[in-house]
Order: sequence, then C-alpha cells, then structure tokens
Amino acid sequence: EWVEFNDFFESIIDRFEFSKSQDVKFNRLLSNEDFFVEIDTDKMTQVIDNIISNAMKYSPDGGEICFSVTQSDDHIQVMISDEGMGIPKANVKRIFERFYRADRARSRALGGTGLGLAIAREMIMAHGGEIWAESEEGKGTTIYFTLPIEHQEEGEWD
Ligand code: ATP
Ligand code: MG
Repeated sequence: EWVEFNDFFESIIDRFEFSKSQDVKFNRLLSNEDFFVEIDTDKMTQVIDNIISNAMKYSPDGGEICFSVTQSDDHIQVMISDEGMGIPKANVKRIFERFYRADRARSRALGGTGLGLAIAREMIMAHGGEIWAESEEGKGTTIYFTLPIEHQEEGEWD
C-alpha cells in the first residue's frame, strides 16, 4: 500500500498523544514534504507502536519524546528519542534480539516479553530498511529506522 509517511506517522503519534495519561511531552519535527513509501501499514503500525510504547515506558515524568523524519537520497530516516534511563553501551545492539531485555528486574516490573524490537527489526528489514539504536545511560535512547522511498525523477515518462 502506498502512503505518505508523515501523515501515516502523525496519525500514530496522535493516537498516543490523545490517550496518554503520563506526563510526557511530544515534540514533532516533521517536514511539509511528501514522502511516499510502499509499506504494509498494519506491520509498520506495529513497529512504530512498539517503539513509542518503549519510549513511554522508560520516560521519566516531564520527559520529552521527540519524533522526526528526514530524507537522505533514496530513503527516509525516522527517529524516535526519549529521555529515559537509557541502555548500557554494551547492551545497545542486543535489544533487537528475541527475548532480550536490558534489565531483568526493571523489565519484569514494566511488563512485556522482549519481542517487540526483534519483530520490528524483521519487519523493517522485510521493507528494505535498517533499524538501530543509540543510547546513553541516564540520558536517553534514540531508535532510528530507514525506509526506501520512490524517487520522482523528472523526464522519466517513457
Ligand atoms: P514487548 O515489546 O515484547 O512488550 P519489551 O518492550 O521488553 O517487551 P522490546 O520492545 O523488544 O521488548 O525491547 C527490548 C528491551 O530493550 C527492553 O526490555 C528494554 O530493556 C530495552 N529498551 C527498549 N527500548 C528502550 C528505551 N526506549 N529505553 C530503555 N530501554 C529500552
Ligand atoms: Mg517493547
């Protein structure tokens, strides 16, 4: 299904923003440009839902969650960052493994199975994109993913 990514993304962010009970600020850094992507919208919704749920789960009171979409030649890059406790450097790559949870005690208290990001990675890869994380303990976590976009080149009508 072809969708304009900013609109698609914003409708998911809206759903979280309207239903949240936590004291978390949402900051949207989205452009007015149209980014057409061919995606499985149900699967991509599941991916984004998990990333935002994680960001909310680990956000402190008054924390900010930032959303951005930028273009770099043949793909878009989506970024979702939080100001939560972060993940120890040595474990950042492992969060995309099945059943991996960075801190057992904390994770047990917060619930979840540790599958969300493993599924997200499979789905992003199936869409021809990549997903990775950057995190600093005590400062926060940023999840990035990319998706290929259709190039609308002029003079290519034949
Ligand atoms: P599920 O998504 O299946 O309900 P989960 O959220 O624990 O469970 P993942 O979404 O795969 O599983 O995340 C894996 C682990 O990565 C988490 O348990 C947590 O330790 C760590 N993690 C993920 N996102 C963040 C984040 N934004 N801040 C801090 N830690 C995170
Ligand atoms: Mg999760």
